[in-house]
Amino acid sequence: MVAEKGTDHDSQQEKNDVLKSTQTVIHKALDKLGYPEEVYELLKEPLRLLTVKIPVRMDDGAVRIFTGYRAQHNDAVGPTKGGIRFHPNVTEREVKALSIWMSLKCGIVDLPYGGGKGGIVCDPRNMSFRELEKLSRGYVRAISQIVGPTKDIPAPDVFTNSQIMAWMMDEYSRLDSSNSPGFITGKPLVLGGSHGRESATAKGVTICINEAAKKKGISVKGARVVVQGFGNAGSFLAKFMHDAGAVVVGISDAYGGLYDPKGLDIDYLLDRRDSFGTVTKLFKNTITNKELLELECDILVPAAIENQITEENAHNIKAKIVVEAANGPTTIEATQILTERGILLVPDVLASSGGVTVSYFEWVQNNQGYYWSEEEVEEKLEKILVKSFNNVYELAHSRRVDMRLAAYMVGVRKMAEASRFRGWV
Ligand code: NAD
Repeated sequence: MVAEKGTDHDSQQEKNDVLKSTQTVIHKALDKLGYPEEVYELLKEPLRLLTVKIPVRMDDGAVRIFTGYRAQHNDAVGPTKGGIRFHPNVTEREVKALSIWMSLKCGIVDLPYGGGKGGIVCDPRNMSFRELEKLSRGYVRAISQIVGPTKDIPAPDVFTNSQIMAWMMDEYSRLDSSNSPGFITGKPLVLGGSHGRESATAKGVTICINEAAKKKGISVKGARVVVQGFGNAGSFLAKFMHDAGAVVVGISDAYGGLYDPKGLDIDYLLDRRDSFGTVTKLFKNTITNKELLELECDILVPAAIENQITEENAHNIKAKIVVEAANGPTTIEATQILTERGILLVPDVLASSGGVTVSYFEWVQNNQGYYWSEEEVEEKLEKILVKSFNNVYELAHSRRVDMRLAAYMVGVRKMAEASRFRGWV
């Protein structure tokens, strides 16, 4: 009995292993495109993974040693690019998977980058401002040899923000004895940040929702929307949907969800949420995240964490369109179930690529020293994402594959070709 239970648990863990599931889809995508096995061998893991130890003297005088990672998936196309996550659950395997997703995103929106990702095992919710600054600077010192404006360009991710990017840019500039805004993106505007960066991921998700709604013959105005996660991605998205005339009937954070079939007061919730995207603690009548995902709605946007839609709840999803703002919220099995049920799933590597696209704009502006208006940024983003969505959608139809596999096929092709031209495979 015990052994059997252990086996179930192991197989569930294996199914939820984001690195393994990413590798499975990359393998399929390369097979469909006709690439030989050695291309998969090259692309299934990052080219480089650095593990670092970061000592920080905490406010109470004790020294704590934090573990950090930086993964560089593939730099055949250009420098690697990707965010830094501060979270207690960061693991080496997760950082590796996230770096591969970044490569795919850059391929899908056709940026001159490969993918990278970083993470530190820590809980910023329990750290002071001063401790966070020391940790951010210590991380940059630890990874400084492998990053830089033409090598690997970090950015924000879960629980990191423009202030952390500013400290990191300052530390790198000191080490490099030069002002280096192009070292990192997601900076405050006064330090060379780009207009539109903070809301770029949500803007990109909104553009994908508009395109997906057209394909499904649904009007966004009046559509019922549920958003899981009320952080950077989820809260801006809820606001954009609300402003577009959609009825946001459900939102959630790590502590629970809020539901109102008549529509939630998004402006009020935005005003009350804290900097970690928490708002539901202020309310008595909450629902669980599990209930939230299964609510009656037209559009469901997971914008929180991995493995939220699985084979256990995929049959109960009522939405007609699922757009993944989060990285890895839907398992491979659930992708198949949703696709078979006729639900249009817009995968993470496409839907959440607005962030890296505007990060690229920020880097271009830093390199040229000439800055664009918010309208220019939005116009450029819209053009790129509409084109990318339709590339993936058309490939899914012409090759009769699901949207995730189609997105991987588009995303992996550029780095496979670049690796081949360089003579690596
Ligand atoms: P964030 O830290 O700003 O917000 C995360 C939100 O998710 C918070 O509201 C938090 O309470 C909630 N959350 C955490 N654990 C949860 C749980 N177990 N159940 C339900 N909700 C939970 O993070 P973010 O930047 O908005 O990122 C969210 C997702 O979007 C991540 O998967 C991230 O990788 C992805 N993403 C973000 C960006 C970006 O530019 N911010 C870009 C691409 C992808």
